[in-house]
Amino acid sequence: MPELPEVETIARGVHERVRGDRIVEVWFSSYPQPFKTPPAQQAKGHEGCVIEQVHRIGKHIVFELVLSGRGSKHRGSDSTPEAGIVDAQWIVHLGMTGRLLVTTPESPVAKHTHARISLASGRELRFIDPRRFGRLEFRRLAADEAFAAPGLEPLDIGAREFAALFRKRHLPIKAALLNQALLSGVGNIYADESLFRAGVRPRRRTGRITVAEYDRLRQALREVLRHAIRLGGSSVSDYVDANGDRGFFQLEHYVYLRTGEPCRRCQTPIRRVLVAGRGTHYCPSCQR
Ligand SMILES: [Zn+2]
Repeated sequence: MPELPEVETIARGVHERVRGDRIVEVWFSSYPQPFKTPPAQQAKGHEGCVIEQVHRIGKHIVFELVLSGRGSKHRGSDSTPEAGIVDAQWIVHLGMTGRLLVTTPESPVAKHTHARISLASGRELRFIDPRRFGRLEFRRLAADEAFAAPGLEPLDIGAREFAALFRKRHLPIKAALLNQALLSGVGNIYADESLFRAGVRPRRRTGRITVAEYDRLRQALREVLRHAIRLGGSSVSDYVDANGDRGFFQLEHYVYLRTGEPCRRCQTPIRRVLVAGRGTHYCPSCQR
């Protein structure tokens, strides 16, 4: 399942390729599962819109759309659209197996393609999802609220806010990190790796972790996520996929899926336990 760095990489890759492009025609499959907004309604909303920006919000990829009559007002690739300028949003949740592909109309259409969006540049944007846990949603901002992630953004959260988010609760820190209502986009890999780097055991109760430890954990989480984004951001091909075969899983894990192997820092064998139903990896010597 794609976590924050994978979604960020896909969003950036798609943004670079389709920003400023106009949506000419839209086709949706007849499978009901991938749609949060009925396909006919989505198609009607999309056509004629200009893609102002594609970015990640939590674990979602959000297309900020402007009605083409109003023109596209670029303000640099890092800027967030100002309130009132964007007319609509197309929200893509990749689920377990969803992929967004920027391609050309001639390229063979993969099985399980649920959306094809033709662009004025001649490119085509496709959403493919074999297991159909992904979701597509269209919001017209005159009527709907702008999309917001359920949890806080781990790359932006401040030290105080981070500690406060967890300290009042009483659950294993690993479970808290995975809770998408608290933080957005942290999954199994990055939770385990950041806990190792912070020296905190995954089963420690959130209420018993010190402020200094929370500070280390927040820093570790940011470092791990940024490092992973950097590795994923190196792709130059026109494929934008979420398979993880572009370097994410070559990330040098310290603990994740290294059960029984020697810790890279102290040689103690890495242990595996279950926390919140998830396989959890840690070093019993480096983590306290
Ligand atoms: Zn160790």
